[in-house]
Amino acid sequence: MKYYILFGPPGAGKGTQANAMVEKHNLCHLSTGELLRSEIAAGTPLGLQAKALIEAGSLVPDEVVEGMIEARFKGTEGVDGFLLDGFPRTIAQAEALDAMLEKDGEAVTAVVSIMIPDRMIHERIAHRATIEGRADDARPEVVENRIRTYHEKTEPLVDFYKGSGRYHEIDGIGTIDEVRERIFTLMDRF
Ligand code: ADP
Repeated sequence: MKYYILFGPPGAGKGTQANAMVEKHNLCHLSTGELLRSEIAAGTPLGLQAKALIEAGSLVPDEVVEGMIEARFKGTEGVDGFLLDGFPRTIAQAEALDAMLEKDGEAVTAVVSIMIPDRMIHERIAHRATIEGRADDARPEVVENRIRTYHEKTEPLVDFYKGSGRYHEIDGIGTIDEVRERIFTLMDRF
């Protein structure tokens, strides 16, 4: 099985590119953001716990997302691998992921990191706010907190994965098609 991690700041275009990647490589797309938003929409206890944190631009607890991911690994059949989008987001989550995969003799195949500068994060999220209506996109202070959280908690994962030679950067500036082609060229190597 292949285990790809789609990495990058909020607004880098992960969700957009994920759709093309899963289709071409027969992967199951696991977006923790989307999974959490459906828990919120369904009004589950987990959703209730996550709602306030997400709307403040903070992370939900590691155990919550780790449990969601592990359950999907176990319950998904008929795919050649997984595309993790929005997970891991902390070093603790990355270590938990390695442990989960190791139990089954598996490992992370590659980290595909879409890079955009901070000023573009603001532009992209402001644009998305007008289209998707996500509560966490609407307020500038929440977006600021997400960007800060990304730099503090998530960016350290770059070194974590670079150390094992699994980290690959993609230039996220350009059209959707251009970025997709860069990703496809990279994925053909695995
Ligand atoms: P973005 O487009 O900002 O990257 P996501 O849709 O991936 O947003 O996630 C939205 C929110 O869901 C995050 O700001 C965070 O509160 C929560 N979340 C998603 N994934 C995780 C995770 N792996 N760990 C903790 N919180 C998460």
